[in-house]
Amino acid sequence: MAIQSVRGMPDILPEQAGAWRYLEQTAQRIFNAYGLTQIRTPIVEDTALFARSIGDVTDIVEKEMYTFEDRSGDSLTLRPELTAGVVRAAIEHGLLHNQTQRLWYQGPAFRYERPQKGRYRQFHQIGVECFGIADARMDVDLLEMTDQLWKTLGIRSSVTLEINSIGSPEARGAYRLALVDFLASVRDQLDADSQARLERSPLRILDSKNASTQALLADAPSLIDYLTDDDRQHFELLKEGLSEANIDFVVNPRLVRGLDYYGRTVFEWTTQALGAQGTICGGGRYDGLVEHLGGRATPGVGFALGMERVVLLMEALQVIPDTYQTQADVYLMPQHPHCESAIRQLARALRTQFPELRVMTHIGGGSLKSQLKKADRSGAGIGLIIGEAELDDRQVVFKPLRGGEQLTLAEVEIFNRISELKDTSWTT
Ligand code: ATP
Ligand code: MG
Repeated sequence: MAIQSVRGMPDILPEQAGAWRYLEQTAQRIFNAYGLTQIRTPIVEDTALFARSIGDVTDIVEKEMYTFEDRSGDSLTLRPELTAGVVRAAIEHGLLHNQTQRLWYQGPAFRYERPQKGRYRQFHQIGVECFGIADARMDVDLLEMTDQLWKTLGIRSSVTLEINSIGSPEARGAYRLALVDFLASVRDQLDADSQARLERSPLRILDSKNASTQALLADAPSLIDYLTDDDRQHFELLKEGLSEANIDFVVNPRLVRGLDYYGRTVFEWTTQALGAQGTICGGGRYDGLVEHLGGRATPGVGFALGMERVVLLMEALQVIPDTYQTQADVYLMPQHPHCESAIRQLARALRTQFPELRVMTHIGGGSLKSQLKKADRSGAGIGLIIGEAELDDRQVVFKPLRGGEQLTLAEVEIFNRISELKDTSWTT
């Protein structure tokens, strides 16, 4: 019996990897344009980091973590998200002393969940964390970045921005009392998880995925009515900034997000196109987290997007450019063993001249017909053929593979032709 991949930890095969690369490269380009720098932290952290930062009474810490003892008896955990590690690193290396940081990251995360479309046990996030800036205009900048990313990827019209303010700890304290009052009055009708949370973590009940609990919550008091004046002002500035940037949003007063360390701004980008796993990106402000993890009090705001879900959406909308789904732009075919050297020299010269051009040489002989079949499969738009007839005169057959006239050209002419096609991504 051959060994299989671990349940919920899928491979990303060559035919899918192009979409991933497209997403990664596009995100990196946009982060670059906003002056962000990258941070890379380990996949494994001290278990206590997650318990303390995400919160004991969360789905993640209660039932989703991959925790194990290493050989020296230390309790370690595969990161279920990347924020905690980034904050730990920023404190540990003094990145927050008298300076602000605007960081991005990317990598795998692990949660023991029930695998289904858009929900996996190993999944991947791209995210941003900004430290040292409490101003709501920073939150706006983050949302502009994500808005720009969706636009560039071609998925903007299928996603909606939901925002809310969950206020300062002071506001949440007052709200908590009102919410517990309300929930106690409908206690018997709550799902078991929510009943268990009623005393320890009532706000998390707002985030319940149970449909009948969600229906009950329609009559619950709204956090937004408990905001302090400063919270309110912060939220107004956020909304004004979004309008000024022409970013449509809806205020969802039930949006709280799953993690304990958020305050004020919370947001999610959601889509109807992926069924139950409709949140492709979530984030918000966590002004208390740095101090909570032992650093000097430092405001922070960030987001993380789920790469699997964004890729699923890009696939559903068929927005992935051809060049990310094919292997080659040019496919070179020697028609005789005598022509092998000329073909390989031509390939080398093309790669030198056009570093972006994807050049594949046919290896292994065979008939022209079978070579053309392979050329087609590579996705190339141009076939270049050298047979014995062309060899003597240093000529090359230029064969458009997606329609167009075949020409026999001098080798220098090939370079001119390809140069002309550059602006059309090498398609004839
Ligand atoms: P959900 O409500 O769907 O469980 P979450 O609130 O637990 O999401 P976050 O912790 O906010 O998710 O993580 C940010 C993003 O990472 C999510 O919006 C989602 O796109 C993605 N994500 C979270 N968990 C998974 C998973 N198990 N598989 C794939 N993507 C995930
Ligand atoms: Mg979750």
